[in-house]
Amino acid sequence: MTTPLLHEAEYYEIINDELHIVQCHLCPHECELMIGDKGKCLSRMNISGKLYSLTYGYAEMKIDLIEKQYVYHFYPNARVQTFSTYNCNIDCDYCPSPEKANIESEKISGKRFAPDQAVMFGMASGTKAICFGEAEPLVSFEWVRDTAKLAKERGMKVLVRTNGFFNEAPILELLDYIDAITVNIKATSEESYLALCKGGSFEHVKRIVKIIHEKEKLLELTILIHEDLNNTEENALELASWMASELGPEVPLHLARLKPSHRTKHLQPTSKELLERAYVSAKDKGLQFVYIDDVLDHEANHTYCPKCGELLIQRNSTMTEVRRISLQGHCNKCQTKLNIVIS
Ligand code: SF4
Repeated sequence: MTTPLLHEAEYYEIINDELHIVQCHLCPHECELMIGDKGKCLSRMNISGKLYSLTYGYAEMKIDLIEKQYVYHFYPNARVQTFSTYNCNIDCDYCPSPEKANIESEKISGKRFAPDQAVMFGMASGTKAICFGEAEPLVSFEWVRDTAKLAKERGMKVLVRTNGFFNEAPILELLDYIDAITVNIKATSEESYLALCKGGSFEHVKRIVKIIHEKEKLLELTILIHEDLNNTEENALELASWMASELGPEVPLHLARLKPSHRTKHLQPTSKELLERAYVSAKDKGLQFVYIDDVLDHEANHTYCPKCGELLIQRNSTMTEVRRISLQGHCNKCQTKLNIVIS
């Protein structure tokens, strides 16, 4: 058990001077907190009338293939220094690591990294980028922002994997320091967000996704589908339609497979048939890049040229091979410009 080191939070205001009540503006929950209260995310607490981040710098570190973070169009096959943070602002039935996504800060056993330490590890390991991944990195917003800023200053690329359920102002600030972002879309209706994740909002996340896209960051979306959850083929189709009309057909969509966990331990993994039907439907909506994830060696793991159909990037269980893309990101066969960053 550790005593968390405190870091004053940003994006909050004192809403009652007399009672020292503060309101956090980091995410749409807008928690109002009396002295001693923690927010829904357990990562922010009112101490003596100020809001503090309890998880600033706490993370587990490892080196991953970039594809493990559902990022297929940004330096394929690169190694990234991944920092997995603690806690989340929603609670999904299929959360792969609920013990890390909902933990009191006193029980965190991971190391605490100052931003320059985290960047130093990334540079020393020779990885291409720093990646902020699970549980939900943006509940540790100040640390992610400080580390990302320093990483950019020192020439590293920065990736973030998020649920997108955060307010516009902090997202806009963060976008100045990141290169690529994967947003996990949890559901395609307000009711389903509540049923599956006890919070969140499709409408809000769509707005945030559009902001990210307008800032021209490399953006990829994922949606987990399953026969017995609220997310099936129709929901993937709905998301694909929205992406094609509001973002453009070049934004990649990943169809993720359920790995039974947390409150879905009684279910089977998503069937291959459902994933394949959703894949065809999403392509029919005009999306150029649709992927089936978490099914080993499936042909829908690969990237094909949307114009001539050439196999451009081949992925299997052990490696990713970039085959026919120029360094400028064009198909070597038909010269089509691709939404893929190679160098
Ligand atoms: S970030 Fe945490 S404390 Fe802030 S509003 Fe969201 S859930 Fe509440």
